[in-house]
Amino acid sequence: MAGLRNVEFVMSQRGKPQVLFDGYLHTKNVERLTCVHWKCVKSTCSGRLTTVGTVIRNVTEHNHVPEDSQKVWFMSALRKRAREESTPMHTLYNDELSNLNNDGTGMKPPFPTMSSALFRHRQKTIPVLPQTRSEVDLQDSWTQTADGRPFLLFADGDDDKILAFGSLESLGALWSSEILYMNGTFTACPGLWNQVYIIHARLGATTYPLIFALLPDRQTDTYSRLLRLLKDEVQQRLNRPLAPSCIQTDFQNPTQPRSPSPTSSD
Ligand SMILES: [Zn+2]
Repeated sequence: MAGLRNVEFVMSQRGKPQVLFDGYLHTKNVERLTCVHWKCVKSTCSGRLTTVGTVIRNVTEHNHVPEDSQKVWFMSALRKRAREESTPMHTLYNDELSNLNNDGTGMKPPFPTMSSALFRHRQKTIPVLPQTRSEVDLQDSWTQTADGRPFLLFADGDDDKILAFGSLESLGALWSSEILYMNGTFTACPGLWNQVYIIHARLGATTYPLIFALLPDRQTDTYSRLLRLLKDEVQQRLNRPLAPSCIQTDFQNPTQPRSPSPTSSD
C-alpha cells in the first residue's frame, strides 16, 4: 500500500529535490502547511502524489513507462557528490559505477556525455580555480582545519605569493624545537606553485611535519622570505622569538647542491 512507503528524494539536473516512486519522477507542485503535492516531470502525464513528512500518500497512475530507477539514483548521486566533494570527477564517476550491480553498469551514460553537466553542478558550490598565484585569495573554510581551527598562517606576496599553513600547536612545537628540518616536494604540488615546502621538528623521539608552505620557486631569497615570515608569525602569535640552534635544509636551486646541508639559523 502506497500510504506506508517512505519518500525517496533524488537531485534533479537543476539541483532541485524530486520524488522517485516506482521509477516515476515527480517535481514539487504545491507546498501546504502539512503536506507537499508533487506532479510527474512529464507535462503530458497527470501522475501525482502527496508527501506527508517522510511518508507517501495519494499516488495516481501514470500514462508512460517508468524510468530505470537505478539509473536515476546513479545520476542523482553523481550530481550530489559533484556539489559536495572536491574528488576528481572521473573518480566520482568510477566510484558510483562500482556501486552498481553488474547488469546495471551497461545502461549508464558514459562519462564524456555527462561530465560538463557535472562540472556545472560543482561550480555551484566550489569557486572557479584561479589562473595565477595573485588571484588566490583564501577565505573562511579554506583557511581552516576540517574541525574549524585556523590553519592558514600567512599569504604573502602577489605573483610571488607564498602560502603557509600550520596550527597554533604547530607553531608552539616549532618554537620549542632546537633543530628544524626543511625540505621540498615537487610532485604533489598544486600547479600554480613550484613546490610544497615542509618544515619538520623533532619532539621527543619522533619528527613531525609542522608547517606546509607553497613556494613560487626554488630561489634562496624565497627560502629566506619564508623563514622571516615564519619568525614574525611565531613572535606575533606566541610572543616569543623563533630561534632554533640549527636548521637543516635539503633545498634545490641552481647554485645549491642537492645533498642535505646543516645551516646556522642566523
Ligand atoms: Zn508520469
